[in-house]
Amino acid sequence: MSARPLVSAPLTPREILDRLVAFPSVSRDSNLPLVDWVEDYLAGQGITAHRHWNEDRTKAALFAHVGPWEEGAVVLSGHTDVVPVDGQDWTSDPWTVVEREGRLYGRGTCDMKGFDALAIWALVEAQRRGVKRPLQIALSYDEEVGCTGAPPMIAAMQGVLPKGAVAVIGEPSGMQVVNGHKGGTGFHVHVKGFEVHSSLLPSGVSAIMEGARLIQWANERNAWIQAQAVSPVAAGFDPPFTTLHVGMISGGTAHNITAAECRFALEMRVVPGEEIEAHVSDFLSEVARVEARMKAVRPEAGIHLERFFGVPALVPETEGEAEALIRRLTGGNAVGVVSYGTEAGQFQEAGYSAAICGPGDIAQAHQADEWLAVSEFQAGQRFMERLLEELAA
Ligand SMILES: [Zn+2]
Repeated sequence: MSARPLVSAPLTPREILDRLVAFPSVSRDSNLPLVDWVEDYLAGQGITAHRHWNEDRTKAALFAHVGPWEEGAVVLSGHTDVVPVDGQDWTSDPWTVVEREGRLYGRGTCDMKGFDALAIWALVEAQRRGVKRPLQIALSYDEEVGCTGAPPMIAAMQGVLPKGAVAVIGEPSGMQVVNGHKGGTGFHVHVKGFEVHSSLLPSGVSAIMEGARLIQWANERNAWIQAQAVSPVAAGFDPPFTTLHVGMISGGTAHNITAAECRFALEMRVVPGEEIEAHVSDFLSEVARVEARMKAVRPEAGIHLERFFGVPALVPETEGEAEALIRRLTGGNAVGVVSYGTEAGQFQEAGYSAAICGPGDIAQAHQADEWLAVSEFQAGQRFMERLLEELAA
């Protein structure tokens, strides 16, 4: 006879938050200790969770289903990874939740282990109280490094659980519904030139000067975009148009040598209603044009691209179920859009009605002394209470 009871005592949201924050699940490191704990905790409550591993099995997403084994669940979606604390000046240990003056300090309290804790709590309560409509949680990894963990997790969920209908992505939004965000993608661009003495310029290829043509293309495209009328779907964004940006550049060895190397990173933040791939294909055409000029001088010259992230926009839905559900639960009428990417666009792309609603303010995310207001955490718990009532009705 095992001494271990099947069901251990359920934890409060705050107790769950304390446990989650204690795992330093920075994106560059494994999240498995956190996933092990959540899986064990849920198992102790009689809930079977499922993992989706990354390729080298150093990280896993975790998802679970409670309620009738049927389609149509409400999915509570959060990420388990957090940004690093390196070089940040923290007043208290970032991996311990410390309450001071109505605030819960700790890395990830705001972005977004506060919501994760509430989602885990709600799933356990759904199991204890019983629900007529199923509830699922989906906890991803690698969100902070380009939202790369969610798409394989969402695909894996389809094969294991009945498909959910509505996804609530709990990124910090002050518990207001956010129904749209920009999409985006980025490229590491490596321009390979050919070195000659600069006095012999026409027989060499300067990677810097050729790379500059592509950067100038981005400048001209920004100007062209901003000369167009703002579309109604983009009007709520700040700025209300797509932007292209180069944030890093390096290359060259001397003022009188044509540069053999130039590397820069180009990102595009694309408003809903525009195709990211249309911007990408125009960029690729320009790359091909510049590369052909380079190769005409030196065949060994060229341009190599590596796409390092891609996040679809969250398109505001007409009569969307996610937005309607969140409005009912919060009683709020305000609807906003945000300019940062989230996993909401990925759930929407996979066929879910999706919107963002979570405790906290994005201004506190990623900062030293990151905090979540206790009042926000409590508002999040009230949201979950109402959700449980609705799912049971
Ligand atoms: Zn986040």
